[in-house]
Amino acid sequence: MMRFDIISVLPDLMQSPFAHSILMRAQKKGLAEIVVHNLRDYSNNKHRNVDDYPYGGGSGMVMSVEPFAACIEHLQSQRSYDDVVFMSPDGETLNQQIANEFAVKGNIIILCGHYKGIDQRIRDIFVTREISIGDYVLSGGELPAAVFVDSIVRLIPGVLSDETSALSDSFQGELLDAPVYTRPAEWRGIKVPDILLSGNQLKIDEWRYDQALERTKARRPDLLDD
Ligand code: SAH
Repeated sequence: MMRFDIISVLPDLMQSPFAHSILMRAQKKGLAEIVVHNLRDYSNNKHRNVDDYPYGGGSGMVMSVEPFAACIEHLQSQRSYDDVVFMSPDGETLNQQIANEFAVKGNIIILCGHYKGIDQRIRDIFVTREISIGDYVLSGGELPAAVFVDSIVRLIPGVLSDETSALSDSFQGELLDAPVYTRPAEWRGIKVPDILLSGNQLKIDEWRYDQALERTKARRPDLLDD
């Protein structure tokens, strides 16, 4: 059972992404547990503030040390964690390899930033990995955290009903995925490639490999070694 503790000022925003489809099924099967904590519950003042003005001036608020420290230390007193991850645009860019690496871990804490970000000392003292979901800036760490968790949970053995389906996904090997089709066999004059209707599995696999290779050459030649 893999456990994610996500610390956020917008816990409501985090309900829906985990309440459907594969992520919900993973939790129902007891393969993953996703717990969202409201950072404001760990605020040390009566207004439940979790941010303050930046030292040195400038625009935007900074998330304070105390609430994050209190929440992380509370969690760490209950169980041990493999990583404390901070979602941050200046972190390592998430890819399939990182998702694979995390899919075999146990307990993970994920911190969601807001405003200008979080006080550097939280990063220095508690954070063990910093993950970005791409070279663009979002207003909070919640959507990045949902993307990160989704990319991991679907790789936990037993989560996908067809166990092999993650293996043929793009980025799992060095090839992108092949094109896919479903019924009807002809639509607006466009036919599904005959080979897919042939029933010849060997030929179908060959076709899929060729298509994947062509697509990778055309779209992502950088993925191919030679
Ligand atoms: N001033 C920061 C951006 C803050 S954006 C900077 O320039 O690096 C507010 C929060 O949203 C961040 O602390 C982070 O938790 C989250 N966030 C924004 N874009 C992100 C991205 N591409 N990947 C991961 N987290 C992101």
